[in-house]
Amino acid sequence: MSVFDYDLFVIGGGSGGVRAARIAASEGGAHVGLAEEYRLGGTCVIRGCVPKKLMVFASEFPQMVRDARAYGWDIAPPVANWDAFQTNLKAELDRLEAAYRATLKGVDVQVYPQRARLVDAHRVALDDGQIITAAHILVATGGRPFVPDIEGAELGVTSNEVFHLSAVPKRVLVVGGGFIASEFASIFNGLGAVVTLAYRGDAILRGFDREATAHVASAMQARGVTVLTGCDVTKLQKTATGVQALFATDVGLEADLVLFATGRVPNSQDLGLEALGVGLGAGGEVLVDGFSQTSIPSIFAVGDVTDRVSLTPVAIREGHAFADTIFLGKSRQMDYENIPSAIFTQPEMGTVGLTEEQAIKRGDIAIYSTQFRPMRSMFAGQDEKVLFKLVVCATSDKVLGCHIVGPQAGEMIQLVAIAVKMGATKAQFDSTVAVHPTMSEELVTLRKPTRILPKSQ
Ligand code: NDP
Repeated sequence: MSVFDYDLFVIGGGSGGVRAARIAASEGGAHVGLAEEYRLGGTCVIRGCVPKKLMVFASEFPQMVRDARAYGWDIAPPVANWDAFQTNLKAELDRLEAAYRATLKGVDVQVYPQRARLVDAHRVALDDGQIITAAHILVATGGRPFVPDIEGAELGVTSNEVFHLSAVPKRVLVVGGGFIASEFASIFNGLGAVVTLAYRGDAILRGFDREATAHVASAMQARGVTVLTGCDVTKLQKTATGVQALFATDVGLEADLVLFATGRVPNSQDLGLEALGVGLGAGGEVLVDGFSQTSIPSIFAVGDVTDRVSLTPVAIREGHAFADTIFLGKSRQMDYENIPSAIFTQPEMGTVGLTEEQAIKRGDIAIYSTQFRPMRSMFAGQDEKVLFKLVVCATSDKVLGCHIVGPQAGEMIQLVAIAVKMGATKAQFDSTVAVHPTMSEELVTLRKPTRILPKSQ
């Protein structure tokens, strides 16, 4: 008989917390409790990946209708019914939240719909005053949008609010140049808004392969998004007809919606972590070792609150590795090498492994890069090109990275990532027979390097 109420108490019912709770309970036989102050499913399900992807789908239909006409379909101009989409979106999120709840119930995880704070290494206080004891505590509280401290910032919204708009705004200003900014600029553009993206740096999607991000940026612009680089938004003010954004270098512009997509910060405040002496980093992230253990041995943390790699599948794997290690006796660390990801811009970008800029610092490389107009959209009269790029080690022939821009790039990169993760060589890519006619056959038919580059100092 344990001296604790629970073997594991999880704070946060998002991707990482729920996976850890489920595995600990169902496979590790642990008695598990979980506190969630908002909705089960966390950022990904409730106000992130899932509703975002559904909005991406919604925003792609006008282009599909235009394409359909080129294929001989006689279709009247489409009319969007935003209310119908919102109703269906809400129903889908409710369904997913219910599925999360059912999963936890099915493995006897007790859910507390309240905020929880740490009292000491083994005690948690709930908002209703209950004190719960646990042998292990997992902090999986995620992150939240960061908004720059500028005058009038409250006139803008963040990704928390953007899914609940009563109508599609006519003019949208997106501030930022990362994942969320680029994705929402594309979404609103697809939905028919006049979109401006204002980014303070010189090229959007910093940190990704420069050739690929330049391709995305110019394609987004060709589709109608105005991308302003080197553009700092310094102030927002209300006008009779919208919100005026002032830029550091000029008068700025007026929009109906200003979306701040200026990064996210870990949800580590007001949890009792500082008082307990749990180590926090400069950005408030919970510091953990490879086993997601904090400086207090009974307290662990996974997911965005640790600010390692802020992606849903990473949080899930961190939670799973934690549960395996502690409750199944399978000591396991998350492997952060070659994590693939997709940015659901229009066009989409999929990426795995090293960028050209990263690889060249490590050794001599060969770049295989091709751009072409894919069959489906070329037939419909579009000029947009897809990009397929392989970054290859010139000495070992190993494929170090792959970057794809084009329709279904996210789907494609998942499959290429298996080969890259296995350490496949360019020769092994070449020995694979092409699937014809597809776009992705280019990955196995890139015969000659576009350029061979010596290691940069
Ligand atoms: P990102 O870190 O991707 O981008 C933040 C952007 O905001 C950057 O362009 C940054 O500029 C800019 N910025 C930061 N501070 C300021 C400031 N004070 N003023 C003006 N601009 C500023 O964050 P996101 O919020 O877009 O996304 C958060 C995380 O969520 C991502 O890192 C990703 O891990 C995850 N995510 C993943 C998605 C996917 O997998 N498809 C989709 C959405 C989110 P600078 O480059 O100069 O620093």
